[in-house]
Amino acid sequence: MRSRNFWLLSCVAISLLGAGKRPPGLGDVTDVRLFDHPSYSRVVIELSREAQYEARLLEQPPRLYLDIEGVWIEETFRGPREAKKDSPLAQVRGGQNTLERARIVMDLHDARRDYRIFTLKKPYRIVVDVPRGAKKMPPVASNDSTFDLRPVRRVVIDPGHGGKDPGAIGSGNIREKDVVLRVSKALRQRLTREGFEVFLTRDNDRYKTLEARTQFANRLNADLFVSIHANASPNKKTHGVETYLLDTRYDRQTARVAARENGTTIDRLNEVQKILASLRLGYNERFAARLAEKSHKSLLSGLRSNHSGTKDLGVKRGPFLVLFMADMPAILVELGFVSNKQEAKRLKTDKFTQNAARGIANGIVRYRDDHARSLVAGR
Ligand SMILES: [Zn+2]
Repeated sequence: MRSRNFWLLSCVAISLLGAGKRPPGLGDVTDVRLFDHPSYSRVVIELSREAQYEARLLEQPPRLYLDIEGVWIEETFRGPREAKKDSPLAQVRGGQNTLERARIVMDLHDARRDYRIFTLKKPYRIVVDVPRGAKKMPPVASNDSTFDLRPVRRVVIDPGHGGKDPGAIGSGNIREKDVVLRVSKALRQRLTREGFEVFLTRDNDRYKTLEARTQFANRLNADLFVSIHANASPNKKTHGVETYLLDTRYDRQTARVAARENGTTIDRLNEVQKILASLRLGYNERFAARLAEKSHKSLLSGLRSNHSGTKDLGVKRGPFLVLFMADMPAILVELGFVSNKQEAKRLKTDKFTQNAARGIANGIVRYRDDHARSLVAGR
C-alpha cells in the first residue's frame, strides 16, 4: 500500500511538474545555442538574469548537466537539439528539474572529464565548452577573464605567410611575407610603447600554419588578434587598403582574397562557408566590427598622411579561416596591392611601414580606450 501511494504521489508530482505551472518571480532561459569550434563544441545558455548554477558530469550514460536555480525554461528551448556529427556532444536538451530549477543536459559521445564553464554578462550567459577528442580545455581563470569583460591588454599580431609560403608576389619581386613582417614589427614597437602586451605569431621568415597561429593566440588568451597581409589582383590597376572581419556572406572579390589567404581554392571555400553557416557569429562579431572600423579608419589616415591618393576599399566581411579559428575579436588587414606597380613601390619603403604601423596602432589604442570606457559605464 505504501509503495502504491508513493507511486501515485510520484505520478502526481511528475504530472504537476509536466503541467509546469510557472511560479512567479523566476528568471528565464532566453536562448540555447550551439557552436562548433575546430577544437571544441560550445553551448551557450542565455538567461534573462544572473543565476546560480551547478554542473555535474556523469558517466553512465556519459552526460554533463547544469542545474540553474530560480530559472524557468520554456518548451521552445527544451529541445532536444542534435549536435553536429563530429561534435563531442550528441545532443542538448533542457527541462524543468523542479518548479524553480531548470536543467540543461548535454549528452556526450564518450565519458570524459574535461570541460570548462564560464559566464558572460549583458546578456547573462553560461558558456560550456567541451573539447574535441583528447584535447585539454584551457581553464578560464575567473568570470572576468573573458574578453568582453576585461580591459584590452594583450594583442597578438599575425604577420601572414612566411618561410616556404611567400604570400603574394608582386611587381619588382616584392613578397607579401616581407612587407607584412616589417609592418608587424613596427606595430609591435608602437603598441608596446602604448602599454600593450604584444606577441607576434612569427618574428622571422618562417612558415606557420593558420591553426598554429590561432592556437598561439588562443593559448595566450589574447584580447585581440590582428592578421596583417598584402593583397594581389590579376587586375594590375587595382590598389587600396581593406580590412576584413569574419562572415559567411561575401562577394566575388572577397572570395578571391579569402581563398588566397586560406591557402585554398574558391571552390573549396564552400566547405569553410558550410562550417561557418552552422555558427552564430554574434558572439564576438560586435567587438571585431568595432576594432575593424577603428583600425581601418586610422590606417587609412596614417597612409594618407604621406600619400593622399591611398584608396579606401573599406571594411569587408569574408570567410577567413584564420579569423574563424581565433577565440577573440579578430581582424585581417590588407595593407595594399603588391600587384600594383606604384603601390608595390610604396609598400617597400620605411615611410610606408611606419605610417601603416602608426595608423593601425592608433586604431587599436582607440578601441582599447573606448572599451575601457564602456566597462566603466557598464555597457
Ligand atoms: Zn596574405
